[in-house]
Amino acid sequence: STFKDLGLHDKIVEGVTKMGIEKPTGVQVESCGVLLGGKGNTNLFVQSETGSGKTLAYLLPILHHLTVDAQTSKLKKIDRKMGGTRCLVLCPTRELASQTILTANKLCAGSFNWIVPGCLSGGEKRKSEKARLKKGVTILIGTPGRVLDHLQKTESLLMALKGKLEWVVLDEADRLLDMGLGKQVEEITQHLKANSPGSGRGRDGITWRTVLVSATVTAELRVLAKERIGGGKGGWE
Ligand code: AMP
Repeated sequence: STFKDLGLHDKIVEGVTKMGIEKPTGVQVESCGVLLGGKGNTNLFVQSETGSGKTLAYLLPILHHLTVDAQTSKLKKIDRKMGGTRCLVLCPTRELASQTILTANKLCAGSFNWIVPGCLSGGEKRKSEKARLKKGVTILIGTPGRVLDHLQKTESLLMALKGKLEWVVLDEADRLLDMGLGKQVEEITQHLKANSPGSGRGRDGITWRTVLVSATVTAELRVLAKERIGGGKGGWE
């Protein structure tokens, strides 16, 4: 199949084609199948290795939804700041975060200009990260430590997320746990729930959809996902 066959918006197909990528990988076909179709609130486990195209497997359908929303709703006239942060991607390492932001930037280059990826992974002054949040970041990619740090110490991140967050991605979730970052991820979720960044209509106040990417999906990961960090109204696939 082609990217167009998957039902992706023309702009997204254009973006991925410009990256020199012609055909979706297996994991991309599967994730688009679930995230573009069905009930519209399903959370997803993506079992895949680095190199299988896992990054685009979540970025493509998420960008598709952001783009369709922008075209079909009042969002069309909203700038990047007012649009808020709609997607939060948590990566175990700064290296993965910077690779991911490169991919997101390339993909967004041909898209609506209000879809702006940004990074919060440390290695920069907190002040410049704060300034970036204030300007508006649609897709926020970061490491748990730094994201938590912003949630605890500055208002900017919660302000950006409030009422806007639709997607949370845990990339390389097995490594997040191996590196002992599970607790921080849970704390981030607690913060988001307590401050109701979504519309508040989901289970336990969770209104965003979670995509968990991992080389192996262990029982431990399933419990973490289902009971402690993810899942709004929808179930898991
Ligand atoms: P990832 O699994 O996300 O780490 O991606 C590994 C590499 O595969 C990256 O350099 C991507 O640009 C590339 N890639 C992703 N999707 C495809 C595809 N459908 N066809 C060919 N290469 C791809």
